Amino acid sequence: MGFKVLTAEVFHETNTFSRLHTDQEAFRNRLFLLGKAAVAERSNANTEIAGFCDVAVGRDWEIDHVLSAAAGPSGCVTRAAFDWICGPIVDRASKGNHNGILLALHGAMVPDFCEDGEGELLRRIRAMVGPSMPIAVSLDPHANVTQLMCELADILVSFKTYPHVDMRDTGRQAADILHRTMAGEIKPRTIMVRPPMLKEVNGGRTDIGPMIARLAKARAYEARHDAFAVSVNAGFASADIAEVGPSVLVTGQGDYSAHIAFAKELSDDIWASRHDVLNTYLTVEAAAALASSYRSAEGPLIIADYADNPGGGAYGDSTALLEAMLMADIDDACFGPIVDASAVQVLGGVPVGSQVSVDLGGKTDPLFGGGPLYVTAELVRVSDGHFTGDGPMIGGLADSFGPSAVIRVEGIDILVTSLARQMLDLQQFKAFGIDPAKKRVVALKSMQHFRAAFAPVAGQVIVCDSGALCTPNYTRMSYQSVRRPIYPLDNTAIEQDPA
Ligand SMILES: [Zn+2]
Repeated sequence: MGFKVLTAEVFHETNTFSRLHTDQEAFRNRLFLLGKAAVAERSNANTEIAGFCDVAVGRDWEIDHVLSAAAGPSGCVTRAAFDWICGPIVDRASKGNHNGILLALHGAMVPDFCEDGEGELLRRIRAMVGPSMPIAVSLDPHANVTQLMCELADILVSFKTYPHVDMRDTGRQAADILHRTMAGEIKPRTIMVRPPMLKEVNGGRTDIGPMIARLAKARAYEARHDAFAVSVNAGFASADIAEVGPSVLVTGQGDYSAHIAFAKELSDDIWASRHDVLNTYLTVEAAAALASSYRSAEGPLIIADYADNPGGGAYGDSTALLEAMLMADIDDACFGPIVDASAVQVLGGVPVGSQVSVDLGGKTDPLFGGGPLYVTAELVRVSDGHFTGDGPMIGGLADSFGPSAVIRVEGIDILVTSLARQMLDLQQFKAFGIDPAKKRVVALKSMQHFRAAFAPVAGQVIVCDSGALCTPNYTRMSYQSVRRPIYPLDNTAIEQDPA
């Protein structure tokens, strides 16, 4: 038997502007599995742990998996939840019988007692294992990478796709670099360069736009004998923390001045293209008007509500787009989700097929995306909310919206759920009796991930800003802790004196 490697998965993308704190229940509602049960559930899917296991088999490692934990993007993680998840990892690391540590982290977790959740986890682990234990971390490119993370982890490797479809590949890449490090073949560390920006324009889209060329340069640079991974992170702008925003990482050894120069070249390119926005953010009225006249044999019009994306920590209960669609008499349409547990409860109390009046959505914070919508609906179906993905992102993975219902209001089938989930798989409609490919109009809550599964069935895709919590209009947020100056908040100052 070869090396013994401690592994764990901890994912949270914290929207510090959210009113909803992230507690243990939020993790239990999404993903909390220990040891072998976690590996069994996740190692035959497109996940980081699957990639770790691929390398473990090939390299004859023994994997000592502590846990896999994730909560839906939401507000700051409570100290109790943070300690509950990190404690077992730190305890296991303290046993001292591992050759290396391999963690799958999102990279944008903010606990309620410090700004850098991943840095804090790594600090606690390092305190147990000392400076020489090789530590590798895979990251989501929406990570807000901190200097502390770069100092404490030897190896940091991010996904290269958005929509994210390379989790398993990234797991393999991080594990391979860790293997070479444990074997004494290389001794990497990770450097970072970042521009003074809140968010990389286009959120890091890799299906079109300038990221394609940057990632090609990154792959070419990895061919150097002393560079093992180049990561281009878009960052996560909905976090009011000093070390927010895009970053370029090089995990390597040897000629660090060359690595820094290369990272700066990519960072400068991100800065230079900060004004180039690929999405056109329509108003909800303009989106509804387009839907009104849309006819195509190629497939439905997909309207993505960018701002109410639960995948960015928005509440998923914004009603602005739905209201505009109802005002425009849109028919042959579906809409999902409206996250509203109290409405689901009301709907659960009447027979399927009956007419029911309900206050729908808009309850968490009406200032972001509209207040409750009073509708009279036909109750089409009630459900426990479970679905299993079959698309490129979550194929084979089970998840749940919690108790849910489908209601029909005029020509729109609406999925009402208890838990907030981003729409990124057709099964998130199909499991509830709605076939989005057969609708004329599909409205959903997502920024970009929906494209992986929905673009292939779409006739046209448009994106709108409902004014919900993930609005691309950053000036609506009261940033206080981000480093200044920063684009776009301090546009004028930076333009005059480029950093
Ligand atoms: Zn991401």
